[in-house]
Amino acid sequence: MTVYEQRDPRFRALIHANAQLRQIGTGFEWTEGPVWFPAAQMLLFSDIPAHRMMRWTAETGCSIFREDSDYSNGNTRDPQGRLVTCHHGMRGVVRTEHDGSRSILASHHGGKRLNSPNDLIVHSDGSVWFTDPTYGILSNLEGYKADPEQEGSFVYRLPPGGGAPRAVITDFVQPNGLCFSPDEKVLYVAESGGSQDPEAPPAIRAFDLGPDGVLTNRRDFALIDRGRPDGIRCDANGNLWSSAADGVHVFAPDGVLLGKILVPEVVSNICFGGARGNRLFITATTSLYQIAVNAAAADWPA
Ligand code: MG
Repeated sequence: MTVYEQRDPRFRALIHANAQLRQIGTGFEWTEGPVWFPAAQMLLFSDIPAHRMMRWTAETGCSIFREDSDYSNGNTRDPQGRLVTCHHGMRGVVRTEHDGSRSILASHHGGKRLNSPNDLIVHSDGSVWFTDPTYGILSNLEGYKADPEQEGSFVYRLPPGGGAPRAVITDFVQPNGLCFSPDEKVLYVAESGGSQDPEAPPAIRAFDLGPDGVLTNRRDFALIDRGRPDGIRCDANGNLWSSAADGVHVFAPDGVLLGKILVPEVVSNICFGGARGNRLFITATTSLYQIAVNAAAADWPA
């Protein structure tokens, strides 16, 4: 039976009390990076240490999508419906074109290799935003051990149409998941640096997003009270759904914790999908979970 933890009466409108949290795949090493493709009714996600990408459909369940994933982590879909992926192996961001060929969008900043791009989103203007913590080069588990060449773990923006990445946030310890508000006026970024630096709070921070990717008004949006935030997503009403050690935490647009969906494994990332956009897919350690919710993705067609 699904266990919910309500913290605010508004939570009830976002869930179905009888909906079951279902494990729809397991046996993986560390799952991450779920992305839904409406045209194919397909979910893709990464199994990072196993060096593979998986596919899930309602008809076929889980199967291997890519055997040699180059330690893929975060995945997203751009406005043209193309898969865009962060790779720890080549330490870059790669777009898979409709014909199956692959284009490297970013691998260096200031002439030096990136750390290990972790998660990414694409703005409706075509700009690609990604985080670059060091998790993929700390050991040989999720990539290839190496010393960082960058001076820090930054958030980057690739301009619409491509070009060099510009560091837009440089004061996080380890930036991780990120998402836009439904109107794309706010950028949220998760700080997971507590894994290295106990002083780094498990914070989700918000920034106002202006034209040409200018960020202002940095503020703390919320703190995760179990573990650290990794992947985050906004729903169509601007509520923010975050990964956490004990499940999925749901915050109102004002940052109030509304409630939690408890998950029996540490959650790394989430995305909305399914035929009507109202299924929450949850990558959690060795498994993939799904639950029906009364919310839909921010970019779901109305
Ligand atoms: Mg991540």
